[in-house]
Amino acid sequence: MNKIFDNIIISPHVDDAFLSLGGFLSGSHRKNKIINIFSYSNYAVFSKDLTTETVSEIRRKEELLNCDITKTNVNFLGVCEGRLRGYKKWDSEPLWFAEEKLITALTSTISREIKTTKRIFFPMAIGHHTDHLIMSNIGLKLAQKFDNIQFYEDMPYVAYNKLRRYSAINPILHQRYLSSELLQYSPKAKSLLCSNYESLLKPGQKNKILRYGNLLSRDKNMYYERVFSIKNKDILKSKAPDNFINLTRNELSK
Ligand SMILES: [Zn+2]
Repeated sequence: MNKIFDNIIISPHVDDAFLSLGGFLSGSHRKNKIINIFSYSNYAVFSKDLTTETVSEIRRKEELLNCDITKTNVNFLGVCEGRLRGYKKWDSEPLWFAEEKLITALTSTISREIKTTKRIFFPMAIGHHTDHLIMSNIGLKLAQKFDNIQFYEDMPYVAYNKLRRYSAINPILHQRYLSSELLQYSPKAKSLLCSNYESLLKPGQKNKILRYGNLLSRDKNMYYERVFSIKNKDILKSKAPDNFINLTRNELSK
């Protein structure tokens, strides 16, 4: 059967797909799609006096511009982001029970796409953002059944040393259960895509993102984005595999 899409990127917020995998999207020349989940948002670096409606529209326009540049298909599901669902902090632990209905609905929406797509990329939730944790959790559950699921390192979080403490890229976890793949990209192309998120990226963040891409390489002229597959699914049977952070904790406590 011909697959409808080669790659689908699950983007918790408008910007996550391009900040994390924009290099891949700009160079792939495949049929790619982004599903923006929590795209109803009042967060922007200059948003103090703007309504949620306006902020969401500004962000949507930024996203559409990048989709145009990279010829990427996009869906906006329009779910309220964490703080609009009542979370006090952006990195609160998800209230799993309260979110159950939403998780079930999102899982079924995404499941419909799995069989007609070669690869689906979920965030790892590095940085512990509530909405990323929810999407990572859905990805881990689906990965029990399907083999075409991979996980990407969340930007800009993984580019910050302080936030990398939550990292899924713990060497033990990595060696035993995950296999990584480096996706080479053009820094010029990715830099342009990042620059289009004026409402979101603070000064310096773009450079941090690119610097991390270069850190993954031994060659100072090469840049990469990194994705992981689960090579040993035993890890998904471990207790409470809500997310990669818990997987790391479980493994380290053995
Ligand atoms: Zn996000």
